[in-house]
Amino acid sequence: MNECLFCRIAAGSIPADIIHEDDEFLAFRDINPQAPTHFLVIPRSHIAALSDLSAEHADTMGRLAVTASRVARDEGLDQRGYRWVVNCGEDGCQTVPHLHLHVLGGRPLGWPPG
Ligand code: AMP
Ligand code: ZN
Repeated sequence: MNECLFCRIAAGSIPADIIHEDDEFLAFRDINPQAPTHFLVIPRSHIAALSDLSAEHADTMGRLAVTASRVARDEGLDQRGYRWVVNCGEDGCQTVPHLHLHVLGGRPLGWPPG
């Protein structure tokens, strides 16, 4: 069995509050939201981290960005704005080793991040 939490969500074996899915990507609400709207966009295929990206992932990452933008618009975030975050590795505070884009919005977000 695949031990990766987000692979298991993508496979449907762990429930999630899914707001978008297609052949390549899934968007679902974060279980511990840090803003009024906080969802994650993941590729179905397992990529562990930003630090593992290579040229072969360029098209996937481009389509992931377009998908996240579209879902943010569907969630009504485009008028006031929002933030994308991808944590990577220990210093980046990544806790789930399956690449995911956080989309946060619905309140003014502080800068710089802590
Ligand atoms: P990161 O720290 O960037 O790896 O982010 C992992 C995110 O996944 C955190 O914001 C968690 O709250 C979220 N998370 C963990 N488990 C689940 C789950 N089962 N469903 C939805 N979000 C989750
Ligand atoms: Zn995975």
